[in-house]
Amino acid sequence: MQDTAGKTILVVEDERPIAEILKVNLIKNGYKVLNAFDGKEALDIALANEPDLILLDVMLPTMDGFTVCKKIRETKSTPIIMLTARAEEVDKVLGLELGADDYITKPFSLRELMARVKANLRRSAVAVPETNEPLCFAELEINIERYEVKKRGEVVELTYREFELLKYLATQSGKIFSREHLLNKVWDYEYVGDDRTVDVTIRRLREKIEDDPSNPVYILTKRGVGYYFGA
Ligand code: CA
Repeated sequence: MQDTAGKTILVVEDERPIAEILKVNLIKNGYKVLNAFDGKEALDIALANEPDLILLDVMLPTMDGFTVCKKIRETKSTPIIMLTARAEEVDKVLGLELGADDYITKPFSLRELMARVKANLRRSAVAVPETNEPLCFAELEINIERYEVKKRGEVVELTYREFELLKYLATQSGKIFSREHLLNKVWDYEYVGDDRTVDVTIRRLREKIEDDPSNPVYILTKRGVGYYFGA
């Protein structure tokens, strides 16, 4: 397993006591910490200092976390974990094309948060196969090394997690995976039963790669069991 110590985490949180607790605990776990206390500052630091991961609160002064996330994604693929305080915010994180990699709801346990930080850092550093040959399925081309998906020769923009999910399914074509399995393998930690994350990511992927998302040919559903790649 990749050692994630020494990585730089940007903590974006305007509530100083929470920011302080996060900082202390991240440092205790061997990380370097940068702090931002409002949205604009977060964006500046994220772009200028290139942290390895960003913990991003939703409710922030000057610019909210959703906007910050979107703006960072215009140029950076830094893993972003959103800190959400309410169920509506979770829905928004899942439903919008923000490009956030993960979210955690407040109040969170520090243990869980540290596990998520580690998992997302590892994910972004995961080794790719040697070959530069894309996987080809009908009109779909998946280039794992270049993190690129093309459909009929046109690049399809996927978020980090969408790509990881597609890669996981496509490299084991025909094999059926339960939502729980996908959460563990693609998201890399034990979720406490929020299957929506998988369903929403599958739906988004289908919208991007299928001609008719309600009649998919690549990512198929095995009713009552889970999902599989069928091309
Ligand atoms: Ca806040």
